[in-house]
Amino acid sequence: MTEDLHFAHLAWPFLDDRHRALGPDLDRWAHALAVPGLADNQPSRATVDQSCRSIVRALGDAGFLRLCVDMADGSSHRLDCRAICIARETLARHHALLDFAFAMQGLGSGAISLAGTDEQRAQYLPRVVAGQSIAAFALSEPIAGSDVSAMACTAERLGDHYVLNGEKTWISNGGIADFYVVFARAPGTQRSAGVSAFIVEATTPGLDVAERLDVMSPHPLARIRFQDCRVSSMRLLGVEGGGFKLAMQTLDIFRTSVAAAALGFARAALDAAVQRANTRQMFGNTLGALQLTQSKIAQMACSIDAAALLVYRAAWMKDRGRRITREAAMAKLAATESAQTVIDAAVQIHGGEGVRVGAKVEKLYRDIRALRIYEGATEVQQIIIGSDVLKAAQAACQGTTA
Ligand SMILES: Cc1cc2nc3c(=O)[nH]c(=O)nc-3n(C[C@H](O)[C@H](O)[C@H](O)COP(=O)(O)OP(=O)(O)OC[C@H]3O[C@@H](n4cnc5c(N)ncnc54)[C@H](O)[C@@H]3O)c2cc1C
Repeated sequence: MTEDLHFAHLAWPFLDDRHRALGPDLDRWAHALAVPGLADNQPSRATVDQSCRSIVRALGDAGFLRLCVDMADGSSHRLDCRAICIARETLARHHALLDFAFAMQGLGSGAISLAGTDEQRAQYLPRVVAGQSIAAFALSEPIAGSDVSAMACTAERLGDHYVLNGEKTWISNGGIADFYVVFARAPGTQRSAGVSAFIVEATTPGLDVAERLDVMSPHPLARIRFQDCRVSSMRLLGVEGGGFKLAMQTLDIFRTSVAAAALGFARAALDAAVQRANTRQMFGNTLGALQLTQSKIAQMACSIDAAALLVYRAAWMKDRGRRITREAAMAKLAATESAQTVIDAAVQIHGGEGVRVGAKVEKLYRDIRALRIYEGATEVQQIIIGSDVLKAAQAACQGTTA
């Protein structure tokens, strides 16, 4: 696939010249990157851990992690949602772990970018940007995933420190992170009230990795446990009780970028499908010469452009300071669901080769799946969009009748 086809959408009016330069720059960097074990289709946990550390360091050395961290001191951009989306789309097109490593440095440090004191920012963000410190975002619990306000992990204030007890699960970078941003509630509080956020160093006594979790698209992931884990009040992020809002604000920044990663996977699947259709001989011609194949390719290309329009609309609105609850949810819902369909069509076009372990499309088939679940499952996005549309219609109606 030529560079032009991968970057044609960068000419859209949603984007500026710095975005147009970023896609090809990052693409060249990713092409040239050599990480031992990255090409393994079924890598061991140790290989995945080591690959992630190497990728984070390489992204930091190349300066790309500045894009996903808001240093707000003139040494970095303010968070530029369109740049984050282009980065994730481009990295995901190359390899799921490249996207993962980039995204988690942003998500894991996002609450520090948003609410950290000058001291906290100075202590953590430069190391995150340099790729010297690995970040993690610890919100979900065994009993609190989609219903995150059901969280049970507690943080009890005792003098100048807090004592954390409880568990967090599905924590990306769990096991290799240098620090976790942890959300926990004051004992006796309910739902979203009383939740605070803390920076917890991985080496803090009372914090341990209870279980490493293996998933179909491998990346470092763990259930972590807090047992009388003492955290200095200097590590409280933002105001006491402001943690739930901070978690939602952090997720808000990165939700659109999950859609961008899905777009990258879908583009990689289309590339592979086109290559296969143009070379596979059957019935005296190529597979691509058959009209049913052209129909499939047409559907895939349309889905990709539709998803891209939703992604960059939401990112553009965010960069203009607009509220994007509905638009970000639409982008995530449409891009992740359609990427799954596009990748499935690519597997179909490959025939038996498509399900063979080690095939590019077989890996993409596994890579895309979790994106429809994390950072708000598809059903959660449907509820956000549906209720927002209904509310807007009610407000318009009241405005008319008032
Ligand atoms: C690979 C991976 C990485 C992750 N990384 C992190 C991380 O770094 N940090 C972190 O804090 N968490 C992380 N998570 C957790 C993730 O956010 C949760 O898995 C997600 O919120 C869903 O929660 P759950 O798994 O408990 O599923 P549940 O909450 O049990 O939901 C199960 C299913 O119910 C459906 N559902 C949800 N709401 C509704 C509804 N209202 N009506 C009907 N159906 C509904 C959805 O289909 C959903 O998939 C990660 C998860 C995965 C899989």
